[in-house]
Amino acid sequence: MNIAILSRSQKLYSTSRLIEAGEQRGHTMQVYDTLKCYMDIATMRPGISYKGERITGTNAVIPRIGASITLYGLAVLRQLEMMGVFPLNESVAIGRSRDKLRASQLLARKGIGLPVTAFGAGLDDTADIIKLVGGAPLVIKLLEGTQGRGIVLAETQKAAESVIDAFRELRANFMVQEFIEEAGGADIRCLVVGDKVVAAMKRQAREGEFRSNLHRGGTASLVKLTPEERLTAVRAAKIVGLNVAGVDVLRSNHGPVVLEVNSSPGLKGIEEATGKDIAGVIIEFLEKNAVPNKTKTRGKG
Ligand code: ADP
Repeated sequence: MNIAILSRSQKLYSTSRLIEAGEQRGHTMQVYDTLKCYMDIATMRPGISYKGERITGTNAVIPRIGASITLYGLAVLRQLEMMGVFPLNESVAIGRSRDKLRASQLLARKGIGLPVTAFGAGLDDTADIIKLVGGAPLVIKLLEGTQGRGIVLAETQKAAESVIDAFRELRANFMVQEFIEEAGGADIRCLVVGDKVVAAMKRQAREGEFRSNLHRGGTASLVKLTPEERLTAVRAAKIVGLNVAGVDVLRSNHGPVVLEVNSSPGLKGIEEATGKDIAGVIIEFLEKNAVPNKTKTRGKG
């Protein structure tokens, strides 16, 4: 197959592993820097060009679109879908996963466990919001934050009030969430491919920290999932519409709760923690599923 990867650079760990895994299996791998792709839109024959040449003959595309270029990246991916190229993850599904509010609504509607969360454009009744999520301790998250930046743990009612007031003063978009204390500073990354969790790791925050992000000094280890956790991760990916997803789960007193469904999960941490060839599993998924024009949404929506 001819497999394209939309990625900023072929030197990134995940991208280079996907190239390696694809080539090992006899595929032709081509990396396109998403921002350098350009499209002709107003024609009956949608096309994409790159460095002066039209992209042709691509069977499947692996989108690895950074959060900061979601809008343009999804337009490029949609264009490829309209050309009949099979996407590892569809543009519509990636769009849902990038919109935390939309993803939470979809998951909640289907009964997936989520931390109690308050969202709002102008969260102006501080006391009521705090009550809504069950009081302090609680976490306050900036919507645009990644890698654990922009998350505050407010341990007391007073602290919660002042942080919420300060965020509001800054006109920031944020949400207020129940603090899952019993998770003990650990979360579980479940890597879903198709209808299976193919790898999972526990990330433990360092001493005195509640955020378990590896970028923040968290450590990864192997973990055995319960059947309920497996099912939750697979269902969460399916509800959002992703074939490949990194589903982050916290172990709460009321069962697994989903923190986030990530559409471009990094492969480094999970391959290192589990010793598994996840890039190979992803390529195998494409081998089995990449049928031309099989995009469910064909660029709609
Ligand atoms: P980001 O997308 O920036 O990584 P997350 O919402 O995933 O932000 O939070 C980062 C980390 O903080 C999580 O991996 C988890 O360890 C911790 N965390 C986030 N929300 C909660 C919560 N409601 N209760 C307990 N811990 C949390």
